[in-house]
Amino acid sequence: MNELQVAREIHRRAIVVDLHADTPQRFLDEHIDWSTRLPDGHLDIPRMKAGGLAAEFFALWVQPKFKGHDLARALTLADALHTAITAHPEEIALARTAADIRRLHKEGRIAALVAIEGGHAIEDDLGVLTAFYNLGVRYMTLTWAFHNNWADASTEPPRHNGLTDFGRSVVRRMNDLGMIVDISHVSDKTFYDVLEISRAPIVATHSCCRALCDVPRNMSDQMIRDLASRGGVIHINFHEGFLSQKYVDARRPFKEEMDGEEHAMEERYKDDPATAAKELRKLLPKHEARLPRPTVADVADHIDHVKKLVGVSHIGIGSDFDGAFMPVGLEGADELPNLTAELLRRGYAEAELLQILGENTLRVMQQVENAARPIGRQ
Ligand SMILES: [Zn+2]
Repeated sequence: MNELQVAREIHRRAIVVDLHADTPQRFLDEHIDWSTRLPDGHLDIPRMKAGGLAAEFFALWVQPKFKGHDLARALTLADALHTAITAHPEEIALARTAADIRRLHKEGRIAALVAIEGGHAIEDDLGVLTAFYNLGVRYMTLTWAFHNNWADASTEPPRHNGLTDFGRSVVRRMNDLGMIVDISHVSDKTFYDVLEISRAPIVATHSCCRALCDVPRNMSDQMIRDLASRGGVIHINFHEGFLSQKYVDARRPFKEEMDGEEHAMEERYKDDPATAAKELRKLLPKHEARLPRPTVADVADHIDHVKKLVGVSHIGIGSDFDGAFMPVGLEGADELPNLTAELLRRGYAEAELLQILGENTLRVMQQVENAARPIGRQ
């Protein structure tokens, strides 16, 4: 057997968990039917099955253009996601706990989990946060690319200097609910503020290593050490712009032009999000042809780096499917075994792979669940 065949075997035994996909927008705006293999995007039920994916976290992400209606948009995304999940009960079902994921895997069904990407969706209301938990939301990324009213993001100059007092109460409420705190996207100071007060381990659901690709969205070696020392897990993002310094440097001279074209496309079809998404996907190959695209080996390099820093117990997978630009060899959920094959080639033992592919995440989920306590008692 070659490495890919071995990898496929391992994916049958392993509980493979991916922490981040942006598919809910596709359900709502493009009305996709994910029961058959789609010609575009990165994920559907056939491709999840082909890749041996046991569980996927689906992010409710509210784009800036919905400002003022953040909560309504998040709820309609949640509704579209629930409709897509419940339409195929033989193949996929909503999971709320680590135990749910293990049970569904045993039953041969995929576990779908709900997440919020960007705390602006709760409209500064702890009651809304609690209601989202009751809808099934099991992690919240505190910010997206911009600051909200209570936490700083990594990609803007600081405004609050980390978390505000209300931001701290959000983290405490998440601990009490048993909702995972996700520090992907937040500023370094926000990360350290969260680390200081969280009673449960925290995660980065889709981030990479600054040592290999120096962008603010990635984590420094010291941050990775501090995350791990508190039991957390960094889930490696597959986004090309976070994986490879060569890619980031090569894109820089074209950045304005490429971002401008994408922005113009969004503007032109702002009332027709389905067409906007389709046209944006057509732009991508044109842009990519001019750049040195990263590959599955670059993802493995980030995993190697974290392993060297803190060991395999703190590594997971956070693809960013349907929300980012995928590297060569990982262009859909069906190609996930290519990553495992690459790690096998690098000498990873099966026990290590099982941890990276899902067991580390399940451990953190369990710890976060165990740390929950009745709301109101501090
Ligand atoms: Zn993101």
